Order: sequence, then C-alpha cells, then structure tokens
Amino acid sequence: MAGEPQDDCLFCKIVEGSVPATVVRETETTVAFRDINPQAPTHVLVIPKAHYRNAAVLADEAPDLAADVLRETRAVADQEKLESYRTVFNTGSGAGQTVWHAHAHVLGGRGLEWPPG
Ligand code: 5GP
Repeated sequence: MAGEPQDDCLFCKIVEGSVPATVVRETETTVAFRDINPQAPTHVLVIPKAHYRNAAVLADEAPDLAADVLRETRAVADQEKLESYRTVFNTGSGAGQTVWHAHAHVLGGRGLEWPPG
C-alpha cells in the first residue's frame, strides 16, 4: 500500500538502515544520500521515508510530503554550495526510472546540457 514500507524496495532498506548509504541530510520525513553511480560532482538523491512508487503517485497521494522532498532538494543544493543545479524526477521506465521508490536527483558541480538524452 502507498506509504507503507516495501520488503523488496532498496530505498526503503536505506531508510531503515539495512542497506548502507552516504546520508548527507535527514529530516522527519525525508532522507538525502549520495548516488552510488554519480553523474556529476554532486549527485544526491532525496527520498520520502514513506514508500510511494514514483513522483506522480507521491504528488497525487501525499502532496505535503512531495513539498518536503522539493524543499530538501533546495537544502541539499545550499549545503553543497551549488549555484546552479538540476532537480530530476524520472517517472516511469520510459523516462529512465529504475528504482520504484519516489526520488529526486540533485545534480550539480559541472555544466549540464539541455535537452537531456
Ligand atoms: P532512477 O534511474 O530510478 O531515476 O534513479 C535511481 C538511482 O539510484 C540511480 O541514479 C542509481 O545510480 C541509484 N542507485 C541504485 N542503487 C543504489 C544504491 O544501492 N545506493 C545508492 N546510494 N544509489 C543507488
């Protein structure tokens, strides 16, 4: 069920601490940790602690929590001293989503091209 921890979810395991991650920020409702395969000098993932399978479901079912995630992307950018950065929510496999727990990528520390591939 949306919001409940899922046994087979990697990011739920990071939230509960059974899978290690380099956590850079944590709030009551969110965790931010470094991506294991960074695509930029700063590449941090911000996730809600509660399980929603992607950003669309999160926005529909828990908009206040979606706002918490967005606020934390800004806090990560501040903490990492990024003047420019990109916030990405890959939503659906066609858009490159590979982990089915909502997450925002925060990318920065180098020039970023547009449009993305
Ligand atoms: P997506 O492709 O779903 O938008 O992003 C998933 C991200 O999770 C990828 O950038 C991938 O590198 C990252 N990732 C996958 N497995 C792990 C892991 O075990 N630890 C961390 N820190 N990041 C992971």
